[in-house]
Amino acid sequence: MTEPTAVLGDITRRHADAIVNAANSSLLGGGGVDGAIHRAGGPEILAECRSLRASRLGRGLATGQAVATTAGRLPARWVIHTVGPVYGASPDGPALLASCHREALRVADGLGARTVAFPAVSTGVYRWPPDEAARIAVETVRRTETAVEQVVFVLFDERAYEAFAERIEATR
Ligand code: ADP
Repeated sequence: MTEPTAVLGDITRRHADAIVNAANSSLLGGGGVDGAIHRAGGPEILAECRSLRASRLGRGLATGQAVATTAGRLPARWVIHTVGPVYGASPDGPALLASCHREALRVADGLGARTVAFPAVSTGVYRWPPDEAARIAVETVRRTETAVEQVVFVLFDERAYEAFAERIEATR
């Protein structure tokens, strides 16, 4: 079992083996944390995303799935891209958000990553309330069988930080 922690900060600056990107299914870049990762990491990440689209992900990455690329100029070694659900778009939303975290850890295991940083997937443009997202994310990380030793949630604003920190503390 991995007991996660929460910090306030910019995920692009984390020295984790892998950082998770809240991507969209095109994998071709977007706003929010996705934009920040591509800006800070440089064109290499997007080039790898394009070649994934040209090969095994011709139709894009499905919601709840995860795939890795290298991390370009970032301090992390890998970026694990996952696609969160849009809040309220489907009754499967909670299961899909859980799947993002489970699949990201499964991909991390495949890479041999031991430290992984997650953003608050789906809480930006995809409008998930931070406390609901925190409940699912924290519970899923705790329940997932993984060789990852350290999971940190890196939250970009106070509201998300409070939600994740409180959830971790309240259910420890
Ligand atoms: P989604 O489309 O999954 O909602 P967003 O990127 O819009 O993804 O938002 C996800 C979360 O990432 C939001 O809480 C947003 O504040 C946060 N975020 C944006 N930039 C960064 C960053 N550099 N580091 C960590 N989190 C970030």
